[in-house]
Amino acid sequence: MVITDKERVRRLVSLPDAKASWAERLRQSRVAMVGMGGLGNASAAYLVAQGVGHVILVDPDQVDGHNLGRQILFQPPDIGRMKVDAAKERLQQMAPEVSVRTEAVALDGDNADELLSGYDVVVDGSDNWATRVILNRFSVRQNIPVVFAGAIGYEAQVSVIKGGRPCLECLFGDTPLADQNCAVMGVLGPVVGMAGTIQAQEVLKLLLNTGKPLQGRIWTYDAYRGISRIVGFPTRPGCSACGGEA
Ligand SMILES: [Zn+2]
Repeated sequence: MVITDKERVRRLVSLPDAKASWAERLRQSRVAMVGMGGLGNASAAYLVAQGVGHVILVDPDQVDGHNLGRQILFQPPDIGRMKVDAAKERLQQMAPEVSVRTEAVALDGDNADELLSGYDVVVDGSDNWATRVILNRFSVRQNIPVVFAGAIGYEAQVSVIKGGRPCLECLFGDTPLADQNCAVMGVLGPVVGMAGTIQAQEVLKLLLNTGKPLQGRIWTYDAYRGISRIVGFPTRPGCSACGGEA
């Protein structure tokens, strides 16, 4: 059964701040997903379900059995397939009208501009500091918002890099996020899913120009202790990524 765009966004456009243009704006929106792990799976599912019209999925990896506990787009028969191919198939089952471009490559300093230019928002679903720096500097250089998230163990965090500063390196510059490995540290599946879901919320707010983005603020969640906080952070003087001037 094919549903109309109108049905997909019916509850969205019932929100008190909704505008008549929202459905069409989402349909024309272009969102880049860098990383199709637990973060990218959750955020892509919600963005496509909610009516985002165009996505690009960037990830060089194949589906592995241990992904299935948190990467909910994938099913056992997908093991061994490229993540971007399996995710595209599932997303198009959810929303046949969505346009999905796939790039089974690792993002690097040389291909970032070519892959991501022209998108409205970039979702950082990566798992390493080097890729996060590439995305942060892309955001500063191109003035395209990047929604950052990380999740490890029982903990998650999300922030929005927008308008050049403060940037991710203002926040972490002196103590870059360690490349903590879920294989070593472990991770609770729903914690990653929640971070990805918060990412999707921030993307939708940016696309629809509503609400207050997590810009200059970081949302942190500790599922083990049941504590959630939002902490502000300033532009860091001398930041090598954004120039550091307020
Ligand atoms: Zn900065």
